[in-house]
Amino acid sequence: MEFVSTRDPGHRTSFSGALQRGLAPDGGLYLPANSPRVTPTVQSLSETAATIIAPFAEGDALAPMISALCESALNFPAPYVPLSADGTFGVLELFHGPTAAFKDVGARFLAACLAQLPDPHGRVTDILVATSGDTGGAVAAACEGHDGLRVTLLFPKGRVSPTQQQQLTCWGSNVRSCAVRGSFDDCQRMVKEAFQSPQLRERYALASANSINIGRLLPQAAYYATTSAVHNARRGTDLSFVIPSGNLGNAFACVIARRLGYPIGRILLAHNANTTVPDFLATGEWNPRPSVTTLASAMDVGNPSNMERFRAIYPDIDTLRAEVSAASVNDADIRQRIRSDANRFAHVWCPHTAVGAEVHARLPGVTRDLSWCLVATAHPAKFPEVVERALGRSIVVPASLAKLSSRATHVTEIDASLAALEQVLAR
Ligand SMILES: *Cc1c(COP(=O)(O)O)cnc(C)c1O
Repeated sequence: MEFVSTRDPGHRTSFSGALQRGLAPDGGLYLPANSPRVTPTVQSLSETAATIIAPFAEGDALAPMISALCESALNFPAPYVPLSADGTFGVLELFHGPTAAFKDVGARFLAACLAQLPDPHGRVTDILVATSGDTGGAVAAACEGHDGLRVTLLFPKGRVSPTQQQQLTCWGSNVRSCAVRGSFDDCQRMVKEAFQSPQLRERYALASANSINIGRLLPQAAYYATTSAVHNARRGTDLSFVIPSGNLGNAFACVIARRLGYPIGRILLAHNANTTVPDFLATGEWNPRPSVTTLASAMDVGNPSNMERFRAIYPDIDTLRAEVSAASVNDADIRQRIRSDANRFAHVWCPHTAVGAEVHARLPGVTRDLSWCLVATAHPAKFPEVVERALGRSIVVPASLAKLSSRATHVTEIDASLAALEQVLAR
C-alpha cells in the first residue's frame, strides 16, 4: 500500500519509505492511501499486529517479514484486567515492556523494521529523538543490539526528573544521550533543523522515531484490536476506550483499529491542563499554544502533532466530534484520583493513567454504563516523585525498571544549537 502526505497528496511513498522518512517532504504526516478492513478475530497481541499491519505493508520489501518482526518486537504481554465484576470497566496495562510505558510497543516495532532497511549508501541509520519523557528510553532500549542503528537522544538539562534522567542515559554504546542547555522546545527545534539541513541529510541517514512516524502507530493499533475482540467475544458488545493523551499518537492508533473493523465503541481523549484538544472539540477553533507543566508530564503538549492526522481524515468538526470526545483534568484531580483508586481498586496509577481514570469517573451514568477500558500508559514506578508523594508511601518497582536503575550512565552536555548536535553526530 502507498502512504500519502496529510498536506500534498502528491507526496506518496511505500510502507518502508514512510517508516524511513518519518515526515513527508512537505512537512505533512503520512497516512495510508486506503482504509483496509480485516475480519476481527481473537488472536494474541503479536498475531493481531501481524494481521492488521499486513494490508498496510502489502507489496513492500518488509511484507514477508512482518509476522516475524511483530513476534520479536511484541514479546511482552498487554493484559486487560477487569476492575468491575460486571465487565463494564477494566484497565489495559501497557507497561510490561522493557521501559514500562506503552511507547515500547511502537519503538520496538519501528526499530526492528529500520534495522531491516539498510541505507542504500551503506551508512548507519541515525535516529534522532527529542524527548522529555518516555519516548527516549523506549527508543534507546529498542535500538540496543541492532548494529545498523544509532540513537541520539536530546533532552532538556535539569528539566527531567532524576528517575527519567537515569532512564535516558543508561544505554549502550550505540545510544548517545545529550543534556541540552535549553528547553524541550529547543531539543525539538534542533532535531527539525537537522532534518532540514541538506548537508546533514547528505552525510547521515537520519530517521525520526517520534509519533509522527506511522511505524509507531500501526503496531499500537494491535492492543486496541485484540482487547476489543476478546471483550466482544465474551460480552457481545463494543469496548470503549479512555486514552490519556498528549500528541494523540496513541489515540490515533485506536482510530486505526476501529476503522479496520474492530468492535470499538467510543474513543475518549483524556487530557491534563493542556486543553488545546478539548477546546478545539468544544469551539471548533484550532488554537495551538505553548504547553503548561503538569504532573502528567508526558502529556504536556500544547500543539499535538497527530491532530494533523485526525483533521485529514475528519476534515469537518462535526464528523470529528462524532468520532472522538475529550475532557481535561488538573493536577489536584490527578493526585486525588491516584489516592482514591489505590483504595477503591488496589491499583496504583501513574499520573497519566490517573488523568484517564478521573475522566472516566466523571462520565454521566448512561455513558459510564457502556463497557469502558482505561488505558494505563505507564507503570507508576516510572514517576515515583509524583506517585509516592500523592500516596504518602513507597511503591514497588518492577524488575524491568529496577534493572535500569542499576546501570551505569553516560551523558554529554551540549548547547542548544544545530552546530552542537553536528559535533555529536560527527563523533
Ligand atoms: C507519551 C505518553 C502519553 C501520551 O501519548 P500520546 O501518544 O503522545 O498522546 C501518555 N502517557 C504516557 C505515560 C506517555 O509516555
